[in-house]
Amino acid sequence: MDIIDESAIVIQPLSVAWVGNDAIQVDMLRLDLIHQVVSGNKWYKLRNNIEHAIELGHNTILTFGGVYSNHLSATAGAAKAYGLSSIGIVRGDEGQITETMQQCRDMGMDLYFISREDYKQKEDPDFLQQLSEQFDHPYIIPEGGANEHGRLGAEKIEWEIPEGYTHVCVGVGTGTTFIGLRNALPADVSLLGFVPMKQGKYLADEIRPFLKDGQDANWTLFDEWHFGGFGKSNDELVAFMNEFYSVNEIPLDVVYTSKMMYGIRAMLADGYFPEGARLLCVHTGGLQGNSSVRDKLVY
Ligand SMILES: *Cc1c(COP(=O)(O)O)cnc(C)c1O
Repeated sequence: MDIIDESAIVIQPLSVAWVGNDAIQVDMLRLDLIHQVVSGNKWYKLRNNIEHAIELGHNTILTFGGVYSNHLSATAGAAKAYGLSSIGIVRGDEGQITETMQQCRDMGMDLYFISREDYKQKEDPDFLQQLSEQFDHPYIIPEGGANEHGRLGAEKIEWEIPEGYTHVCVGVGTGTTFIGLRNALPADVSLLGFVPMKQGKYLADEIRPFLKDGQDANWTLFDEWHFGGFGKSNDELVAFMNEFYSVNEIPLDVVYTSKMMYGIRAMLADGYFPEGARLLCVHTGGLQGNSSVRDKLVY
């Protein structure tokens, strides 16, 4: 797709001063540079889904998300790029036109707001059947792009990762990107997942069944840097994002990558990584979601 620019992806080293140890290298894989809205891992999970939808002859994509969802805005943008229509089933009420929702509309997505109660049925086969009939049989992608096509699409992120890294670090929401990476990376590379929600380690049970033979090794989830829970932040996190930007000239998002980098810095300070370690941190994008803190950010 011409609006999506995978050639924009670069690997950017973080400053030695930030890392605080010149025997450890920390680089960032800038998937956020692919596109302003269809950024990061979302593109990889969506592309396989949308290409499959086109093969099956669909011209509309339907998916799910909250009023700040990176997945919804990325779906709106990716569907538009492929010339397809899109429908968003949103957890929230009509009045909640956040910047994210406005962006979805601007890219042509039709939004349908439903209650939290109804939204809980998002994986229920009867509910999906009902939506399918109501909207003339669209191609339905689960919340977060969390399906087989999403997992296979996420494996392609590994193509951007050169040999020689000892650790790859990534934020975890549904775990779809993490599964794709674990299945595609050599088993001797450690994969560290940072879950930005309270008690997020339960996701390990959702990840494990999808790992290929021989790949269920060398992976760990961390959930201690949640800052109060999913989507929550505080002044300390925002100050960290501003400092990270001033030192490394990389903007982080407030939901995933800021909490991951905060955790990595704490682990560096704690001596978690051995000398000679080479870390690649995946910048999964999500910058469109920074509207809630934008007036406190220096970028
Ligand atoms: C959605 C998202 C994630 C989580 O991806 P999953 O595949 O659902 O685990 C991580 N980082 C950012 C910036 C995201 O938008």
